Parts: sequence; structure tokens; C-alpha cells
Amino acid sequence: MKCTGHCPYCEADSVFLINTYDAEGCFACNQWLEDACQDPTCPFCAHRPATPFGALFLLKERAELRIQQSRKDRLRLHYQHQHNTNRIKK
Ligand SMILES: [Zn+2]
Ligand SMILES: [Zn+2]
Repeated sequence: MKCTGHCPYCEADSVFLINTYDAEGCFACNQWLEDACQDPTCPFCAHRPATPFGALFLLKERAELRIQQSRKDRLRLHYQHQHNTNRIKK
């Protein structure tokens, strides 16, 4: 995530574009710079949290889940690998 500009509310250079929600938010005053649209099926706005901090929290949680998942996958592959080599030896 990259700083994309200047906040019109608090004047801080803390505006970031959050791609997941296709929206810019200020992390200094914790406000979205754009209102969500009214479309309940919009892939961006329908699940957008009320604040940029809320969005950041969700993104972090999702990233941690992905890390845990890939760690599990690696363990499973390792196990299968050992299993296969044992079988070949016999
Ligand atoms: Zn601001
Ligand atoms: Zn929308």
C-alpha cells in the first residue's frame, strides 16, 4: 500500500488506496474519502467496513490466514514426501 495523497479533512499525507475496496481512505483521521455506492451487489462497497482502520484490520486478518494455510500445506506436502520415500525404500 502506497500513500496516494493529501487528506481534505485533516490535511495529513496519510491517504492510501485500498485496492480490495477500490477506495481511498485517510489513516490519520480514519475516514474514507469516497462514499460507498448504494449498490448492494457491488464487489467493492458491499463489504466495505465503516472505516479504513476496519478495512486494514480485515486485510491483516486475511493475510495471516493465508500464511497459516500455506504453512499447513507445506507440512502436508512434507509428510506426503516422506511417506513416498519410505515406500520406495521398502
Ligand atoms: Zn484525514
Ligand atoms: Zn460500489
